Amino acid sequence: MLIEFKRELLKSICKFHRGLYAILIITVLLSGFSGTVISQKFMVYNLCLVASAFFIDELLMHFVDKTTMFYYTVRSFLFVFGIAISIGFIREMPRYMLCIYMIWGLSVVSEDSFLSNILDEYGIIPRRLALTIIISIGVVLNFWDELEGTWAVGFFFFVAAMVVTSFIDYILISRSIKVYDEKLTGQTLRNDDLIKENEDLKTLQERVEQVNNEINLQKIELTKANKDLEALNRETRSLIDVMKFFSDSYDVEMNANMMVSNIMNIKDPDICTMFIDRNVYGNEEPHREILVSDPSFTKVAADDTKEIFDYIKLRNIIDPLFLCKDNNFMFPYFINIGICNAVAIPAIENGKVYGVLIVASMEERFFDNGLAFYESSVTDFTADLISDRLYLKTVDMAKKDGLTQIYNRYYFNEFYNKLIEDKGHSKNGSLTVAMFDIDFFKNINDTYGHLAGDEVLKNIAGICAEYAERHGGSAVRYGGEEFAIVFSDKNIDESYAILRDLHKDIKNSVINFNGTYIRINVSIGLASYPETNSDIHDVLDSADRALYYSKENGRGMIVIYGREEEALNENFSY
Ligand code: GH3
Ligand code: MG
Ligand code: MG
Repeated sequence: MLIEFKRELLKSICKFHRGLYAILIITVLLSGFSGTVISQKFMVYNLCLVASAFFIDELLMHFVDKTTMFYYTVRSFLFVFGIAISIGFIREMPRYMLCIYMIWGLSVVSEDSFLSNILDEYGIIPRRLALTIIISIGVVLNFWDELEGTWAVGFFFFVAAMVVTSFIDYILISRSIKVYDEKLTGQTLRNDDLIKENEDLKTLQERVEQVNNEINLQKIELTKANKDLEALNRETRSLIDVMKFFSDSYDVEMNANMMVSNIMNIKDPDICTMFIDRNVYGNEEPHREILVSDPSFTKVAADDTKEIFDYIKLRNIIDPLFLCKDNNFMFPYFINIGICNAVAIPAIENGKVYGVLIVASMEERFFDNGLAFYESSVTDFTADLISDRLYLKTVDMAKKDGLTQIYNRYYFNEFYNKLIEDKGHSKNGSLTVAMFDIDFFKNINDTYGHLAGDEVLKNIAGICAEYAERHGGSAVRYGGEEFAIVFSDKNIDESYAILRDLHKDIKNSVINFNGTYIRINVSIGLASYPETNSDIHDVLDSADRALYYSKENGRGMIVIYGREEEALNENFSY
C-alpha cells in the first residue's frame, strides 16, 4: 500500500516536472532566438541536457519498480552531472544563466534527496524551501551587478518559479498524503468494521454451532426418551393385560405361566423361572414355571432355581438380589453357560418369602433399565394369588359343611344335577348313589349330649370321605345325620362291595368322646343308573327309598333298590 502510494505520488510529481522541462526548453529557445545567448553551441547543449534529463526521467518512471530510492539517486546524479557539463561552457554564458542553472540544480538535488524521504519525514518541505531561498540570496548577492534588464526579470521569474514549484510540490504531496490518509483511515475503519463483523459472525457461528449441537444432543436424548417411553408403555400395557388375565383366572399355576410368558415376551431374557414353595395355594409340592430361550438352559434353570429359592427364603429380604451382573458372579449359579446377567426377585406375602422369580440373560447390561417391570410382575402375581386363594377358600367353604368338612347339600345339588345331565347326554357309564342315615342318632344326642353327637357326625363323615376319595367318588352331608356317596362310573355291585367295607368300618369303629366310647350303626340305601333305575333322574329318590326300607326293617342294613329282600337275608353283623 505504501509503495503504491509512493509511486502514485512520484507520477504526479514527474508530470509536474515535465511541465517544468517544457518551460526550460522554451526559455532556452527564446533566449537563443532573441539573440541574448551568444553561442549556438551552448543552446544545443542546453537543449540536449534538458531532453536527456527528460528522457531518463521518463525511462526511470517506467522501469524502476518498488525501490524508489534508486530512482531518486540516479535522477539527482544526472542533474548534478548535467550541470557540471554545462559549467564547462560557461565562459560563453552570461553569469546569471549560470546562477539559474545552479539554483535549478540545487533545487532539484534537494527536492529529490528530500523527496526520497518525504513520506517518512513530512517537515522536509520547509527545509527545502529554506535551502532554495538561501542559495538564491547567495547568487543574488554575488552576481547582483550582472543582473539587469530582461535577464534580471528572467532571473526573478526563475526564483519565483522555484518557490512556486516547491509550493506546488508541497500541495501535491500533502494532498496525496491526505487522500492516502483518508483512504487508509477509511480502509482501516472498514477493515475494523469487517474484523468486528467477522468476529461477530464468528461468535454467531459458534453460537449457532453450539445451539445446533445442543439441539442434536436434545434430539438424541428425545429419541432415546421416546424409545424408553414406548418400551415402558408396552410393559405397562402388558402388565395390565396380565392383570386382566389374573382377574379372570383362579388357577395360580396358570397365572404363574402367564406371568413368566409375558416377561419372556416383553423383555426377551434367556431364562425366566417362577418358583412357588409348597402349601402356598393348597399345593402339596413346590411349583416351578420354567421358560427358556434355548432348551439347553432347562436343566440348569431347574436345578439352580430350588437352591436360589432356599437362599432367598433364608435371606427373607424384599429387595431383588443380583446373582450376577455383567459377568460379575456373586453366586455360583448359571455359570459357564453364557449367562452374564441374572437377578432373583423375591415373592413375599406377609413378610415371608413364598417364592422367587428368576430372570437371566446372555446380554450385557440387560438390567440397565431397572427391575421395576419384574418387581411389578411379582407384586401383581402375589396380589392375585392372595385374592385367588381367598376366593378359592370362600368357594370351598361354600361347598363344604362347616362341621364335617365334606361337601354340603347345596353343592351336592349343583354337582349332582350337572352329573346326571352329563350322564344323560352321553348315555353310557353308570351312576350310583348311596344314602346313609345314622341309626338312633337322636339317642346319642340325648345320652351323651350334642357335642358327642357332633363328634360322631364328624367321624362318620371322615370315613365316608376317605372311602369316596379312595374310590373316585364324592361324599356329602346330605342333612342332619344323613350322608350320601356318589360314584360315577361304578356299577351297583362294585359300589355295594365298597359300601360293605365302609359299613363294616363304621360299625366296628369306636368313637372316643372325652373318655366315653360310642358305637353306632348306619342304614344305607343304594340305587344305580342304569341297573336299578333306567331313568337317571330317579336314582336319588330310589336310594332314599332303599334306605327307608332298612329303617323300616330293623336298621343297620345296606339295601339295594329293587333288591330289598336280599338285604334281609344278608348278614351285616361282621
Ligand atoms: P333313626 O334311626 O330313625 O334315623 O332315628 P334317629 O334318631 O337317627 O332319627 P331322627 O331323625 O329322629 O333324629 C335325627 C336327629 O339328629 C335329630 C337332631 O337333633 C339330630 N341332629 C341333626 N343335626 C345334628 C347336628 O348337627 N348335631 C347333632 N348333635 N345332632 C344333630
Ligand atoms: Mg334322619
Ligand atoms: Mg337317623
